[in-house]
Amino acid sequence: MTMFFSYHFNKTGHLNTGMTESELGAVFFMKKFVKLIFSFIIICLFGVPLIVLYGPDGLIPDTRDNQHTVRVLDKQMGQVRNIPIEEYLVGVVAAEMPAGFELEALKAQAIAARTYTIKRMFAFGAKPNPHHPETEVCTDPTHCQAWINTDDQMKKWGRMKYYANIERIKTAVKLTKDLVLTYNGDLIDPVYHGSCGGKGTENSEDVWSAQVPYLRSVDCDLEYKSEQQNTTVQIDKSKLSSILKDFLIIPVSSQSSANYIEILKKSPRGRIQEAAVSGKKISGMELRNLLGLGSTMMYWQDKGDKVIFSSAGKGHAVGLCQYGANGMALAGKNYKDILYHYYTNVKIAKVKY
Ligand SMILES: [Zn+2]
Ligand SMILES: [Zn+2]
Repeated sequence: MTMFFSYHFNKTGHLNTGMTESELGAVFFMKKFVKLIFSFIIICLFGVPLIVLYGPDGLIPDTRDNQHTVRVLDKQMGQVRNIPIEEYLVGVVAAEMPAGFELEALKAQAIAARTYTIKRMFAFGAKPNPHHPETEVCTDPTHCQAWINTDDQMKKWGRMKYYANIERIKTAVKLTKDLVLTYNGDLIDPVYHGSCGGKGTENSEDVWSAQVPYLRSVDCDLEYKSEQQNTTVQIDKSKLSSILKDFLIIPVSSQSSANYIEILKKSPRGRIQEAAVSGKKISGMELRNLLGLGSTMMYWQDKGDKVIFSSAGKGHAVGLCQYGANGMALAGKNYKDILYHYYTNVKIAKVKY
């Protein structure tokens, strides 16, 4: 700023306009005054609305005048956003399902995501979530549903594919506008997972504790590229000793895995629910996480100083199987066939605003 003023003053003096020193001073202050007024107008035009919109801490105040908007905690940006539901769902489907999937699979995903969202909205009687009581959903996929903004969609797909992908997803959301899933007239918890590996889905109580009538184990014979959903990891026995250190009594280097990992309980589909390492109990989910596998449909084999662990599918295997949905769509099934297959005895209903 100092540089600017001195330059300006010198330039005015150098031009030799014939004005006295006091006249020159008046001109200078007049210009300064005009600049001040101009800055004030700019702040009023842009700055004040921004403060009103975002608030001093960057949060958007809840000024919704209708219930068609969902209040989202954007974990990545640390901001709260009020987003029209159908627009929000585009960002959810973009984050939760491969955009190249068939339109009918994307439509099924959009309905599941809409059901999940509406069920968490205060306007529909939802109680505040203790993790984020001021917002209805967050963008953390391990807590609510994943959601990505336009910038991240471009990063994910690249600019070339962005336009085609986003159009497909927008179409899927638009063609299912206002549709949700109900059971006995209530919105369901439409849980979904990446892939059951073609092994079939699980009853809710075989993965979690609650028995949910519409989350029943079903076959998944049409799963799309199920063999590509397998995970295989080779682990040196010395490394395995450190991974399982909280459980092992002696290091595994000299032992066969059959001696220290025991399967205690499997689901009817064959997923490990409970195991024991050196006699100490561990849940199938915890073992899966420690070993870095995709699911609890786990297998292992001793190979000298290594153990080869593998798993089929990705995720908990309850509710809608996304790769299964795509396989069904490729086989000519529509979104209703898909949803009625993975969610037992549900209905597709139109949400009333
Ligand atoms: Zn959340
Ligand atoms: Zn499946």
